[in-house]
Amino acid sequence: MYNEEKYNRDLKFVSKIDKTVSPRLEFLLYFCAFIACLVAHICYLLLFALAGVKVMVVFNIFSVAFYGILIPLTKKVKDKIILVYATIAEIILHAVVATMCVGLLSNFAMFLLMLIPLAFLMPNTYKQAPFIVLFLNVPLYGILNFYYSNSAHALYDIGGTSYQMIFYIINIIVGSFVLIYISIIFTIMNSYNECKLRMQTKQLKDMASTDPLTKLNNRRAMNLKLAEVSISSEKYVIGIGDIDNFKHVNDTYGHDMGDVVLKDVARTIEETLPDSATAGRWGGEEFLFVVPDIGIDAGKDIADKILKNISDMVFEHEGRSFSVTMTIGICEGVKDTSIDNMITRADARLYKGKNSGKNHTEFTD
Ligand code: GH3
Ligand code: MG
Ligand code: MG
Repeated sequence: MYNEEKYNRDLKFVSKIDKTVSPRLEFLLYFCAFIACLVAHICYLLLFALAGVKVMVVFNIFSVAFYGILIPLTKKVKDKIILVYATIAEIILHAVVATMCVGLLSNFAMFLLMLIPLAFLMPNTYKQAPFIVLFLNVPLYGILNFYYSNSAHALYDIGGTSYQMIFYIINIIVGSFVLIYISIIFTIMNSYNECKLRMQTKQLKDMASTDPLTKLNNRRAMNLKLAEVSISSEKYVIGIGDIDNFKHVNDTYGHDMGDVVLKDVARTIEETLPDSATAGRWGGEEFLFVVPDIGIDAGKDIADKILKNISDMVFEHEGRSFSVTMTIGICEGVKDTSIDNMITRADARLYKGKNSGKNHTEFTD
């Protein structure tokens, strides 16, 4: 059951994320990722130079220059996704050329697969782009795996050297970090969207079932509740209460004061009813309540208590004070009685009450 407590927990989480995710944080996330790429390529450049893999030295000089240009652009370019795709393209090319140069065992080809979830995680400004990465990288990975499983096909033979092990370890660490980073962001985004959806659903449900003035159930919600009680309770009592001479309140103290009276009466009804009961605004100054699992005598006690609590309320308006009273018609239903029938009966009793002095509970025909 999605209750207030869970709603507040969701609200706390969503506001925390909303507060944390600022344009500055977004900029920092991109900036740090590009800096990490630059640092990684400087490392690769040095290692390839030491290992004597000239092709990769030249490639990494271009890569370092590429990130050297890209990093200052992070501040200038609005659409940072383009920069991420440029980075993805660089990494794909690097993974392919490095595998061709030093073979499979250094594990550069692994990046082709790790880029796929990253492409799908990005904001979907360019809907086809992640699929392009997917359909390019999977076959590329397959071809490289097939052809370079024979280490003799690599351009440089670094097999058995410590460089191969260093590349392997660095690539595994960098790749794992990318995967952990993607998983955490993905989990947070998923929870955020789920919470937001749950909250919006509750807000819409509340709007569709609540009377905006009194915050009680509206007529639609009460009809649903009545239908539910009439099939789940062996017996129950429904009551319809109507404020006496309410037109006089509006005429004497104004419509706004009339609204205040309606709100306070609604609160009193709700506070007086037992927890098992449900109350709603049935019409202008008419309220309906249903109490499951009680008979007419207990129903009359509850209705009388409501009337007493309402008449005890004192309203102040421009130095004058006044009170209001209510008339309630109640009737008892048993399981599967027609709800329309019950409402008609309670309404007839209310009418009878109005014609016999108002300000009391009417419980007979
Ligand atoms: P009775 O004792 O027979 O019930 O008399 P009454 O004056 O209460 O009944 P009547 O039906 O003549 O008047 C009901 C009034 O309630 C008329 C209408 O303007 C007022 N009313 C209905 N909805 C609202 C509302 O949302 N706010 C305010 N302030 N008044 C409302
Ligand atoms: Mg009235
Ligand atoms: Mg009325």
